[in-house]
Amino acid sequence: MVFRSKDKKFSVEIVLPIRMEMEAYASVAYRQETGGILIGNYDQGQSLASIKQITGPTSDSRGSFSWFERGTRGLKKLLDENWERGFYYLGEWHFHPFNSPTPSGQDIQQMQDIAKSTIYKCPEPILIIIGGSEEHFQLRAFVSIGSKKLIELYAANTDYDDNLVQQS
Ligand SMILES: [Zn+2]
Repeated sequence: MVFRSKDKKFSVEIVLPIRMEMEAYASVAYRQETGGILIGNYDQGQSLASIKQITGPTSDSRGSFSWFERGTRGLKKLLDENWERGFYYLGEWHFHPFNSPTPSGQDIQQMQDIAKSTIYKCPEPILIIIGGSEEHFQLRAFVSIGSKKLIELYAANTDYDDNLVQQS
């Protein structure tokens, strides 16, 4: 499924197996926040990011019911290996157990820090948040552009649904 900014300048493709993998990590974590990084590539115009791979929590990640601190163990090696194949760090994902997938102030700050970081070399990092629980997971996607707040990316079929509503 493609998620797109309202101005359609930025899109991210999240295929079902990737979404299911995040939800599987969330199911295991149950009442703890968990998360990892997004790896993939961009189309030539840099406007469509495709997530090809995600990670779960690294062994040095820490989480509780209401916060998550992603560690870094093993990620440099993984990213170096991917770099050689043309896949890059695209951003972050994490889980808000039994809560809405709405970014916290800390989430927004973290993405701004990553956008400026010379380690990640990713000026427009994506943030995916999974909310809810196993009975009903929700997903929201965002991109951090410059020093602005997060911009939401909407499921491409949301536009389609809006059109249907307008027609009826
Ligand atoms: Zn969060």
